Amino acid sequence: MSELSDSTYHSLIAGENVPGTRGLFRATDPSTGQKTGPEFSLLSKGQLEAAAMAAGEAFPAYRALTPEQRSSFLRTAAEKIETSGEQIIATAMSETGLPRPRLQGELGRTVNQLRLFAKVVLEGDHYGARIEHPLPDRKPLPRPDIRQLKLPLGPVGVFGASNFPLAFSVAGGDTASALAAGCPVVFKAHNAHPGTSQLVGKALIAAVAEHNLPSGVFSLIYGPGQDVGQALVKDPRIKAIGFTGSRSGGLAILATANARPEPIPVYAEMSSVNPVFVFDSAAKSAQELAQGFITSLNGSAGQLCTAPGLLFLAEGEVGDSFVKEVSNQLAEATGVTMLTPSICSARVDGEKKLADIPGVHPVGYGTAGSTENAPAPAVYFTDVKTFIGTPELSEEIFGAVCLIVRYQHNDQLKAAVHSLEGQLTATLHLDTEVTEDLGAAQDLLPHLEQKAGRILVNGWPTGVDVGEAIVHGGPFPATSDGRSTSVGTLAIDRFLRPVAYQNLPERLLPEALKEANPWLLARRMNGENQPAPERRGA
Ligand code: NAP
Repeated sequence: MSELSDSTYHSLIAGENVPGTRGLFRATDPSTGQKTGPEFSLLSKGQLEAAAMAAGEAFPAYRALTPEQRSSFLRTAAEKIETSGEQIIATAMSETGLPRPRLQGELGRTVNQLRLFAKVVLEGDHYGARIEHPLPDRKPLPRPDIRQLKLPLGPVGVFGASNFPLAFSVAGGDTASALAAGCPVVFKAHNAHPGTSQLVGKALIAAVAEHNLPSGVFSLIYGPGQDVGQALVKDPRIKAIGFTGSRSGGLAILATANARPEPIPVYAEMSSVNPVFVFDSAAKSAQELAQGFITSLNGSAGQLCTAPGLLFLAEGEVGDSFVKEVSNQLAEATGVTMLTPSICSARVDGEKKLADIPGVHPVGYGTAGSTENAPAPAVYFTDVKTFIGTPELSEEIFGAVCLIVRYQHNDQLKAAVHSLEGQLTATLHLDTEVTEDLGAAQDLLPHLEQKAGRILVNGWPTGVDVGEAIVHGGPFPATSDGRSTSVGTLAIDRFLRPVAYQNLPERLLPEALKEANPWLLARRMNGENQPAPERRGA
């Protein structure tokens, strides 16, 4: 049951309820296939303009906040979401079919993310402040006074992901990093979880109001992607896009952004099969390894961008025993409700297509879940030649379906890696005491670095730590711009751009670059790192 009352809910534009003129819709409970919760009105294309305009108007005041002010706003946003936590989780359960523990974890991640960015903003490393004092006597030419600072791009349009109704949705990583950078956000809600979006949106709007910020700092809009979403990308006030979803959706948004009179950056996370390389020294522990694999594959019904969709395994007895163990354990696994009927049917169709490819054979199946939209997890296998010769075999099937690829020697493995598209992750399983496998892994590593944003050893790619060093990105099509990450503190960089100030008098310099360092930032000064002065009361 949704926790929202029966009234009709609307887009929240600059703090106001704005009834959409494009009709009404309700969420679907994927476990029953029945409509659930109240009605939501859909915005029409023309109405979107008000949100972009409000964001544009809010930008000058919002970008000018001090680190303390912006940091405090982000902390309040986290508190407001936490206060409504129970209501948010109950609503998300009814709209997504995801279980309570998963959503509790996601809520925790969402508020922690906001608090992490509050800390980043306060410490101010993201400003990237650099100062080069003048060298009037330098030969052959004197050096002027040059100072550099990273500044927010402007209003950002964010598209929420279906598979993370909290951590990659209204107040998720893209929103948190854009707000931290100093960019107002217009958020296009995913229509699969409108009530969850409404509750989190209201919490953000309450934080905006409590801090007396311009109301256009955050808006939430409901509407069809093809129409309102496209209008958001085209709006001249929007200066960057964050997106998580399908390859076709991401590419359509990228094309629109590039076709604008003023093209803008699009950070789209789209598709990844996350190859896992199991060497014999690890495959020997077949029981334990198969258990980890199936848990990673079937968790959240495989609807994680980092789910292992491909596993490479050498031919031979050790590999055969592992495959047998996977088959046995998979038979005990049960399908989990998927997020929407359409995501479920795309997954079922994807599996049919895979199973029909000549040279692809089943390893085994689990059992379908007792609810609607809960297909049985499935694992198939093929040989490396078929894999390399059939590009469709490396396409993402969003769900608990994996293809095991058997190879004979390491050169074939390298050739297979070369045939792969860009990936979010690549995982190696090996006994690090076995010299032969360690050597093979070392040999493969430079090739994997060319293909993936994160490389792991003896773990599973699902479960992304949110911190300072993480990269959740990767070459195309994992993302549209592999130079960045959408998770972790470095995500803020996507919404900043450097500006250099040459020979500005002290009074005209931004606070971050003033000689006296009033914001107490760590700065790079004349080629040396200068630590941050201690904050009073710190
Ligand atoms: P999606 O269909 O790409 O939708 C994501 C968001 O983008 C939605 O708000 C959607 O709005 C909007 N959108 C879609 N096409 C658009 C377009 N041409 N122009 C503007 N906006 C557009 O993704 P999804 O609904 O989350 O899932 C569908 C499929 O995406 C899955 O089956 C899976 O293959 C893939 N997926 C991958 C990942 C990953 O991490 N790799 C994550 C989630 C989904 P509307 O719904 O209103 O169209």
